[in-house]
Amino acid sequence: MDKQHTDLVEDCVRKLQSGIALVDVCVTRGLMVQGGRGLVVQGGRGWCTTFCLGKKWYTNPVPPVPPNPVPPVPPPKLNIVIWARSESRAALAGEFKRIPPVLDDMAQVVGTHAPVVDEADERGLQKALAKGGACLVKTKSQGVGLLAAGSSAAHTTAALLVLEKSAKVYWEAELLGGAKPIKRREAWLMHLVYKRKYSQMESKAVHQTLEDFTRKIPADEMAARQAIIKTGLSLLEKNLVQGTWGNISLRLDEQFMLVTPSGLEYDLLTPFDIVRVNLHTQEYEGKLKPTSEKIIHAELLKSKPGVNCVIHSHPVNCSSFAAAHKPVVAPDEASRELLGGDATLAKYALPGSKRLAKNALAALKQSQACIMENHGMLVCGTSLDDALKKCETLERLAGSHIDGLVSEPQGRGN
Ligand SMILES: [Zn+2]
Repeated sequence: MDKQHTDLVEDCVRKLQSGIALVDVCVTRGLMVQGGRGLVVQGGRGWCTTFCLGKKWYTNPVPPVPPNPVPPVPPPKLNIVIWARSESRAALAGEFKRIPPVLDDMAQVVGTHAPVVDEADERGLQKALAKGGACLVKTKSQGVGLLAAGSSAAHTTAALLVLEKSAKVYWEAELLGGAKPIKRREAWLMHLVYKRKYSQMESKAVHQTLEDFTRKIPADEMAARQAIIKTGLSLLEKNLVQGTWGNISLRLDEQFMLVTPSGLEYDLLTPFDIVRVNLHTQEYEGKLKPTSEKIIHAELLKSKPGVNCVIHSHPVNCSSFAAAHKPVVAPDEASRELLGGDATLAKYALPGSKRLAKNALAALKQSQACIMENHGMLVCGTSLDDALKKCETLERLAGSHIDGLVSEPQGRGN
């Protein structure tokens, strides 16, 4: 295997391991099958292989014999497959037939649903992965696994992480009173838009430098840009954000806010990548686009004078409440004081839309934190640290509420 492929596999492993509750990730070393139609991966507990020859998919969780000689195949569209095992509650979703689109990010990355396929059902596996996709796989010897195929490592890794989260969220939302999936048509539309946007993003993952600015950035603004990056890294570290999802804004003055850019990894951001946006016109400076949720940030900063920072993210426990359309009750005085009461519920609207900003504004009229239906959460803070603390608290409250339900003897559906 050449260095390019080693780097690619190592990058996948790094991202997967920093994601949610993926235990025993099986990609530790990879070997591109000649012809580029698949990846043979080595797992922590032995070999797993999944590969495609011609139009046929093979998945094989036993010691493999790499196919030799490999028959010639046409130029590939799908050139990476990742198999991983989850020991989180996501594996419990294997009892369902399919995972519906419970979250926006699942609809975007995975599509209108993800099937649950038996490892022996070759046709089912082929169908699930034919155009690049993701599914849960029930195996005899390894429990429930996750399988994703795609044209690039970044996309396939994202699909796997999102599927694991969605499977867990679906199971937990059922526990919270019932999952309320996004309408199929909306999910399908989001998937189409994401695919188009993502293919553009992949070809132009650019960063900004000092030369991209026509003005001198004052020292206090540079410090604010650094502080936003530090908050982004804290969100990553505390598992409050995955991949390039989620966004942060900080009020600069009466006219401008600083926001995270669209589609860039938090750990690769430089101060020059943070985008200055006009709060009133939403015009932005530089060649990088601001987050697609800039309207929410601008509207909240404009309407709440004491608020200087807004964080939006999709952490897993809050996502379960989002999928069940449930607010998070703050159980004690300290958390009520911090969050401004219970975390309210913002009605569903398509991501990035004006309607979503309107719904978020309505939900946050009294409170400083809300759950966004089928999407994630939003918090308002007086500072970056205050908003970060609210994110942590809200996610912890959501998690302990779910854990309480799991430990109740009557179990699911109550
Ligand atoms: Zn979002």
